[in-house]
Amino acid sequence: MPKITRNTFDKVMIPCYKPFNCLIVKGKGSYLFDSCGNKYVDFTGGIAVNSLGHCNKGVQSVIKKQSKKLIHASNIFTNISTLTLAVKLTEHTDFSKVFFVNSGAEANEAALKLARRVAFNLYGETKDEIISFGHSFHGRTLFSVSVGGQDKYSDGFGPKPGAITHLPFNDIETFKKHISDKTCAVILEPIQGEGGIIEANPEFLKTVRELCTSHNALLIFDEVQTGVGRCGSFYAYQNTNVVPDILTSAKGLASGIPIGAVLTSDKIAEHFSPGTHGSTFGGNPLACAVGSYVVDTISKESFLNNVKEKGITLKQSLEKLKHKYGIFKEIRGKGLLLGAELNENLKDRAGEIQQICAKYGLFILTAGHGVLRFAPALNIKNKTIEEGIKLLDKALTEFTQD
Ligand SMILES: *Cc1c(COP(=O)(O)O)cnc(C)c1O
Repeated sequence: MPKITRNTFDKVMIPCYKPFNCLIVKGKGSYLFDSCGNKYVDFTGGIAVNSLGHCNKGVQSVIKKQSKKLIHASNIFTNISTLTLAVKLTEHTDFSKVFFVNSGAEANEAALKLARRVAFNLYGETKDEIISFGHSFHGRTLFSVSVGGQDKYSDGFGPKPGAITHLPFNDIETFKKHISDKTCAVILEPIQGEGGIIEANPEFLKTVRELCTSHNALLIFDEVQTGVGRCGSFYAYQNTNVVPDILTSAKGLASGIPIGAVLTSDKIAEHFSPGTHGSTFGGNPLACAVGSYVVDTISKESFLNNVKEKGITLKQSLEKLKHKYGIFKEIRGKGLLLGAELNENLKDRAGEIQQICAKYGLFILTAGHGVLRFAPALNIKNKTIEEGIKLLDKALTEFTQD
């Protein structure tokens, strides 16, 4: 066995990523530690995944306990762990049926297939159009990436799946003009995450909901990033004036263990029958046991109120830095999914700021074009937020010096 270093990545990994130069060796709460001896405040939360922080004690004990009972048996059988999480998800939402997968892309893939199948069964094969929006992100399977609103991710993998229309986000008039009886589904993120923390405005959501209903099109909310407490409500739709027909969840649902879920109604669910769709790992007992622990923890009103409060604290701190440095156009987002958009002339330099932050011991994310993104663990401590903001302050001082 050769010594494992960062160079091993370049030798043996298909180069889809360009990771940091040191290896991450340990995580604890909202801190990460690397092989070069550095400690970091983690404002990335594993890209909105580690909802309860790194190596959470409760998560550890659930994994340990479930691993002694059953880790995987396949969907030839069902089991208490999977069904328990399904029940909990229905109890905390407006939905009554669940399908489990292992990632966000798979959840959207299943949701989109379900919407096509519903339209096919009820109205025939000409009702097949899927409408999505510019800058949206729905995952990397060929279907979900083609539905996503950023061509750069789907170009070069053609032929792409057909009957997909991209419209400008939050543009009511264009949407009104375009939707028709050919439309079978509309998919959107209540707050676009990868696209740059862009909130759907309430009037837009209301119109989309009404026109979906009148055209017999299903409304799908992709809550892979906004869900499970991230924006201060259990799901973000619960803080809007609409209820979608299908909701997809993943990322933070099991605080770091791969899982995804599709939530919908009895009426829609009945269009899938044994054999029409499936997943080998979906509903994995270990992942679902952790999912139940996460749902129990996060759905508590006190926990969600805490997320809101911490979100406000972090947002106010970012506003202060906005005033201090004058390099940001806007601070936006909800709960602990926040974005700081750089001024027009600095938009290409978000990555540079991210690098400087890392040098000072702070991990942050970027999103869209020129947006710094913050998605820390939902249970991050106030003093860790403060610590991270101090590091960001230092990094911005350096950034604005040259
Ligand atoms: C991350 C993300 C996805 C894709 O999830 P994967 O687990 O990477 O497949 C889909 N939709 C949204 C909104 C996301 O943020």
